[in-house]
Amino acid sequence: MTLTAVVKTQPPAAIDAILAAGQAVFGENRVQEAQARWADRDRAGLELRLIGSLQTNKAEAAVALFDVIETLDRARLVEALARAADRAGRTPRCLIQVNTGREPQKAGAAPEAVPALLDTARAAGLTVEGLMCIPPAEDDPVAHFRPLAALARDLGLPILSMGMSGDYPAAIACGATHVRLGTALFGERNRP
Ligand SMILES: *Cc1c(COP(=O)(O)O)cnc(C)c1O
Repeated sequence: MTLTAVVKTQPPAAIDAILAAGQAVFGENRVQEAQARWADRDRAGLELRLIGSLQTNKAEAAVALFDVIETLDRARLVEALARAADRAGRTPRCLIQVNTGREPQKAGAAPEAVPALLDTARAAGLTVEGLMCIPPAEDDPVAHFRPLAALARDLGLPILSMGMSGDYPAAIACGATHVRLGTALFGERNRP
């Protein structure tokens, strides 16, 4: 089980402290914010994971910065990432984000669209290693974690990114390989 430290909005001192504690896996929501946070740091041995949704016009910047993109959710983004990976000579690993709650305002592929998207991504040369979800805030998260785990198992995908500060014990019980924690590590974020 891997702890992804979600560092969005965290100041340099907080990053210094968690790096000093030995944390090496980090989650970021926004490409530009992440570029600014990591530009002047030695990233050897660290893993940066994009956990926020990605616009196609930022695909090139995302491929340059991130080791893993957890939010692959549509064929247009597959195309943009494959093109960016070709140009950069560097292919990030990907997870498919699944909109398990079928929330219209939320990113993620519909569960039934995942097999076709996986085929499309692989045909384009991308490496897809697992699935990711963000359950609706008001639901029992287990009702989302269990089907995500079942879908990953059916598709032979080993990586499951699920669980945040409010629900990570349940996610681990359901088979999460990666939990994404912000508040539990750093305290409440300042809301914009
Ligand atoms: C912000 C964020 C997290 C971390 O949330 P906390 O509740 O602070 O642990 C995890 N995953 C995603 C996709 C996020 O945007």
